[in-house]
Amino acid sequence: MLAALVLAPLWDATLTHDRQKALDSINAKDLKSYVSYLADDKLEGRGTPSKGLDMAADFIAEEFKKSKLEPLGDDGYFQTTTYTSRNGSVTGKVRNVVGLLKGSDPALADQVVMVTAHYDHLGKKASGEGDLIYNGANDDGSGTAGVVALAHALGRAKPKRSVLFVTFWGEERGLLGSTYYGQHPVVLLAKTVADINLEQIGRTDDLEGPRVNAVSITGYDFSETVTALAAAGKVLGTEVQRHPQYSDPFFMRSDNAAMAAAGVPAHTICVAFEYPDYHGVADTPDKLDYDNMTKVVKLSGLGILTIADAPQVPHWNKENAKTERYRKVRGEG
Ligand SMILES: [Zn+2]
Repeated sequence: MLAALVLAPLWDATLTHDRQKALDSINAKDLKSYVSYLADDKLEGRGTPSKGLDMAADFIAEEFKKSKLEPLGDDGYFQTTTYTSRNGSVTGKVRNVVGLLKGSDPALADQVVMVTAHYDHLGKKASGEGDLIYNGANDDGSGTAGVVALAHALGRAKPKRSVLFVTFWGEERGLLGSTYYGQHPVVLLAKTVADINLEQIGRTDDLEGPRVNAVSITGYDFSETVTALAAAGKVLGTEVQRHPQYSDPFFMRSDNAAMAAAGVPAHTICVAFEYPDYHGVADTPDKLDYDNMTKVVKLSGLGILTIADAPQVPHWNKENAKTERYRKVRGEG
């Protein structure tokens, strides 16, 4: 009997009234409008650095402001730095966008759960015929739209811990914005209990076949962050899966990797790893399944709230040798 009690589920994803209210506010229409702005031709593919990238950052900051997040950057919602290309030919100011929803429990509010996505993409082709713009609707307009939607929604649930919303520049150039953040965190990394990164959550036309009402989490066996997300998936009836081939390799291929390198139990939620138009000019807003995306954002939201309200914090999985380097940085044996 005692053993059963000790092994009782640690992650309580129950849909309380306030949590339900928060999730109910997430909807396909808003998600579509965010993606449509971010992936519009006038943003020219949001290359790093570019005017289109700046327009995207301004848009996200404006939404964070409407959500009444606290600005935690050095310039309002912006964490600014300078990007210089490897050969030095391109340079420019670049910005992560950072906002905080303050936790409701004074004893826990100094701890944060991060939710992240990259808002940059590949920009445009220098020359050629026809469509030259890499719109990046799914990669990663979708994840960015998810972060914006969650910024609007989660306050309704009054989470105990704080939630830190960050969108990164420069992912497509090598996780640059997230790496910069890991080196210049606005909240102590030791107080950053988890990061849930949203990447490619709009397209369901996976090359392996349609993927509806299911998500993959990268590094599925790496930390308890995933256990909390799985608990949320169970409550909402959305499958949280370990992709048999991609779970571990793709752990290194988005911004969660930079946060993990900084010690934070960080994972990427993704619907389709590989889809037609990946890194092509036809990754446009009309190809996304916004109803399915709504489910994915709700699942992410409930996972974040589950961690934010839990008595304990997620740890790296000691049983998995691949987590050793992250445990070392974290100071977890
Ligand atoms: Zn991406």
